[in-house]
Amino acid sequence: MLTLNQVKNKSIARLENLIPVVATATERLIEHCYARGVLIVITQGYRSAAEQDKLYAQGRTAAGSIVTNARGGYSYHNFGVAIDFALLSPDGKQVFWDTKRDGNVNQIADWAEVVDEAKRLGFAWGGDWTSFKDYPHFEMTFGLSTAQLRAGIRPTAAQITAAMAIITKEESYMMKAEDANALIKRYLQPAWAACKQKGDTAGMQEAHRLANELRKASGQKEQ
Ligand SMILES: [Zn+2]
Repeated sequence: MLTLNQVKNKSIARLENLIPVVATATERLIEHCYARGVLIVITQGYRSAAEQDKLYAQGRTAAGSIVTNARGGYSYHNFGVAIDFALLSPDGKQVFWDTKRDGNVNQIADWAEVVDEAKRLGFAWGGDWTSFKDYPHFEMTFGLSTAQLRAGIRPTAAQITAAMAIITKEESYMMKAEDANALIKRYLQPAWAACKQKGDTAGMQEAHRLANELRKASGQKEQ
């Protein structure tokens, strides 16, 4: 299973050019989901107007199928206030857009857990839209339309401060001991046993180290 830092590193490039409050909220989102045993990757962050135009052309004047109804300057991604995500397998090798997947086996779809965490952090979810549902999409628009953003209007300092207060409050979030122990049981104990069978002591040590990292992260004693 990937460590939290390995999971974060997969998304770090996508956080570039997001406005700082959204980048911070996104980083917290990755952490909070990890604490629930849900690994995510940010697949899209900021897009320039030129990149957006190229995406808009797809399925219209260029090959492929239509993926967006927004031209350059008409998507919140063009202003660094929107992100898209996907689910990751525990080893980080597979990416899923399956909204029903329950990788941490807690009877709650992982997708719904990510949406729950994102909303707590102040994001709005594209899956709540009535006309065109965009399930992987989150945005923090501060009540501004893309027309206002195109006109150069930006969130106020008071809005940013209020958003940061919500994000910081959520920072005290700690992984629950039962969630940590469930992950250890599901992924790390079998990995340790498989390494033992192969006589792979380095692998056994790594599984042991990761289990202790999860125990520490959930306020438990190392073993
Ligand atoms: Zn999006």
